[in-house]
Amino acid sequence: MGTTPPVHRTDPAEPLASVRAALVEACARAGRDAGSVTLIAVSKTVPVDKVEHAVRCGQTVFGENRVQEAEAKWPLLRSRHHGLELHLVGSLQSNKVPAAVALFDAIHSLDRPRLALSIARECARQGRRPRLFIQVNTGAEPQKSGVLPQVTDAFIDACRDVHDLDIEGLMCIPPLDEPPAGHFALLADIAVRNGLRSLSMGMSADFVEAIAHGATHVRVGRGIFGDRP
Ligand SMILES: *Cc1c(COP(=O)(O)O)cnc(C)c1O
Repeated sequence: MGTTPPVHRTDPAEPLASVRAALVEACARAGRDAGSVTLIAVSKTVPVDKVEHAVRCGQTVFGENRVQEAEAKWPLLRSRHHGLELHLVGSLQSNKVPAAVALFDAIHSLDRPRLALSIARECARQGRRPRLFIQVNTGAEPQKSGVLPQVTDAFIDACRDVHDLDIEGLMCIPPLDEPPAGHFALLADIAVRNGLRSLSMGMSADFVEAIAHGATHVRVGRGIFGDRP
């Protein structure tokens, strides 16, 4: 992130192919099956026609960081293309929970008890169960969302035992000004000791390194769609 050169590309076809190639190579180097890592194309701020171009290039899994933007883009995209999977990667306000549960297949930003409660209630009401990732603030940064590492085990227990939520995995966004490896390793440790199978970590600048540390979901935006406005 801090060290990535800016990406200036407008056509997602070629960048998408090179991101996929880098993913496959990173898996090979880590002795992992390429199918064990899901590439989430983060399409926040990207207009529908550019998203459709990525769909035509075979991309099926996308991420958005704002519920409102996703509500504006995705009903149309889903009506035109079958089998698309949509992940919420940005933080979720409690008043947006009904819309988020209705729209997203996965939520990567479960980060507080009140949100666990609202999601649980809304899942019951709608009869839907989006896959859930708990966001961990691995760098304990005051401005960043996420559960602090030292209370994550307790939060996972509460989600499971109090709210009856099935937690799939953990998500983190390492601090911009630190090497990400230690944060990826910390997230992987917390997942292992809690029996969680998925790790959402790695973005355009560091997804190769995240795969080396066990990422199962990498969230790549600029690397596929170019710099955002
Ligand atoms: C925007 C965003 C990404 C993608 O970041 P890039 O640097 O564009 O790859 C990944 N995760 C989250 C949570 C984001 O908000």
